[in-house]
Amino acid sequence: MALDVAELLEGIAAGKRAAVSRAITLVESTRPAHRESARELLVGLESLGNRASGGAVRVGISGVPGVGKSTFIEALGSRLTADGHRVGVLAVDPSSVRTGGSVLGDKTRMPQLAVDPNAFIRPSPSAGTLGGVARATVQAMAVLEAAGYDVVLVETVGVGQSEVTVAGMVDTFLFLTIARTGDQLQGIKKGILEIADVIAVNKADPDDPAREQEARAAARELAGALRLVRGREEWAPPVVTASGLTGHGVDGVWEQVIAHRDHLGADGLRDKRARQQLDFTWALVRDELEQRLRHSASVRAIREALRQQVLAGEVPATVAADRILAAYDADE
Ligand code: GDP
Repeated sequence: MALDVAELLEGIAAGKRAAVSRAITLVESTRPAHRESARELLVGLESLGNRASGGAVRVGISGVPGVGKSTFIEALGSRLTADGHRVGVLAVDPSSVRTGGSVLGDKTRMPQLAVDPNAFIRPSPSAGTLGGVARATVQAMAVLEAAGYDVVLVETVGVGQSEVTVAGMVDTFLFLTIARTGDQLQGIKKGILEIADVIAVNKADPDDPAREQEARAAARELAGALRLVRGREEWAPPVVTASGLTGHGVDGVWEQVIAHRDHLGADGLRDKRARQQLDFTWALVRDELEQRLRHSASVRAIREALRQQVLAGEVPATVAADRILAAYDADE
């Protein structure tokens, strides 16, 4: 990869796809020389106009596999580009960390957007850890914003920490689910109800009245559950129905996203982003420390023996922890 940052910046400012693509590859790289160039790039991006004007509408979209995320993003993204927006689609997929492959943000799952000149789709980076993926995604978002993308959709799955991580980098967090009522509602993690700003019950196809009814009933129940979890908050997350496949209700979901944004207001949005920056700073530090701990030669040297001793009950956890930390400090 040629690392002419000035040239990349010029290309990004001109909105050139090739430059955007190369810049994102750069920010995804974990090689030290690339990290240095990526930093230079980000500083350069800050001075480009688009970021200063407030950046893009940043929306996280989450839901379990099969709920219809990619179909929904395809429908929503196409509508937005038809309305004159430029739409970036990024993905945070913790499973890609393990498999090295990516399911989310796969272009073949969004065939229409993939060939749309006003859309840019990027699959999840496989940067080793969720923290690494988050770092790359936040930087990719900055690249897209500087290139004039005014809407960025960040797709993620309902697995582990990834939803919380994505909620921490977007303005509005949209949770997609499908009709579940009664006991099945328990299957939805309470945590997601705490962070969702808008909820859509998907697959409410208008040509399938039974299914649509079921979706409406599920939406009502969810709204009730939300009132219990979020009762005292100013923003009561709306629960709507949609059908990504037919496009029905997709506009309605977007209206709620914009309503949430309006509710935040300019000051609220600025505060939210500032707080996110601070939280993200510490998340990056923690992630980096964990990496260093993992790679510390002195820790490695004692790790296996200590593991055996703790398992055998010969060394208490507190003592083992102290030894690991002492080994780590000795490495410095
Ligand atoms: P993802 O794994 O969440 O990205 O889900 P996909 O978008 O790949 O959709 C999973 C399956 O559900 C596919 O077979 C889609 O065709 C189907 N699907 C997606 N949206 C809808 C919808 O609104 N209605 C119906 N009936 N099926 C849908």
